[in-house]
Amino acid sequence: MISRTASTWQRELASAIVRPGDLLERLGLAHDPCVTDGGAFPLRVPEGFVRRMRPGDPRDPLLRQVLPVSAEDAVLPGDSPDPVGDLAALVTPGLLRKYHGRALLILTGACPLHCRYCFRRHFPYSEEGLAGGWDRALARIASDRSVSEVILSGGDPLTLSDAKLERLVERLSGIAHLTRLRIHTRTPIVVPSRVSDRLVAWLARSRLATVVVLHANHPAEVDATVATATARLRETGATLLNQAVLLRGVNDSLEALVGLSERLFEVGVLPYYLHQLDRVQGAAHFAVDDVTAGRLVEGLRARLPGYLVPRLVREEAGRPFKVPLV
Ligand SMILES: *Cc1c(COP(=O)(O)O)cnc(C)c1O
Ligand code: SF4
Repeated sequence: MISRTASTWQRELASAIVRPGDLLERLGLAHDPCVTDGGAFPLRVPEGFVRRMRPGDPRDPLLRQVLPVSAEDAVLPGDSPDPVGDLAALVTPGLLRKYHGRALLILTGACPLHCRYCFRRHFPYSEEGLAGGWDRALARIASDRSVSEVILSGGDPLTLSDAKLERLVERLSGIAHLTRLRIHTRTPIVVPSRVSDRLVAWLARSRLATVVVLHANHPAEVDATVATATARLRETGATLLNQAVLLRGVNDSLEALVGLSERLFEVGVLPYYLHQLDRVQGAAHFAVDDVTAGRLVEGLRARLPGYLVPRLVREEAGRPFKVPLV
């Protein structure tokens, strides 16, 4: 049930398409026997994101990111349910400490859409997330002066209400040794109306220097509604960056990656990371080999100013930073 007081963005999230048949029909596509319901990680995509897909194109790069297919059922040697070692980095429920000076809070398992390649799809959120409250995680951060930056992550932290986020950020601002707040979110890309007046107000008010790391993989994701959202985020003084995942059949072409960097810049966002896919179960059909990935980045260097070339990285369990590949 959606309450009558829900905001526009909450309604948009709650009315997301969850039945593959509905999505195919909406795009004028025939039913395909390879399409599944996604099992434990079901289809989820809001209408505003579907509107950016090309009707009648079964290979649309946005559709491919969300449509569950039977190739996900393959389990390959070397694939893991926790490829980046997140479970080993848990300090207390919801708090990950992997990198110097930075602490990452897993605020929720909820996401505005379900990305088929996601490395968090097997994370046991109900046991390890912060559903039980933030007190313990905040106490750990407060007692560790080596932490200067807190990263809000998930799932997607901006699926939480502004009331909750505002309270959390107020508590974080009260911890004297914190200087930066980082928010890892795909929601302003997927449901741009999420950048509400209230969100802009609490972000602008915080004493912490804020970095919003968005997540778009293809230039077609960044339409005029997204441009409005990023313009509002920039008004808060936040630095806007983007991380993308290199995905076969989505953005593994020079054209898509050049287009993404240029489009991001137009809306005030700098490319930060291009992630080589983690070896997560069910995503092998999205993998791009390292040689091809390296060539693509060389191609970007030849075409774009340096500040529009993202860093190609892979996360390796137990390493103290994301490992650059080229
Ligand atoms: C990626 C990541 C960070 C941030 O790394 P940066 O290189 O600073 O972007 C922090 N903590 C965890 C657990 C991460 O996975
Ligand atoms: S929004 Fe982010 S965390 Fe959620 S499914 Fe997509 S990639 Fe994963």
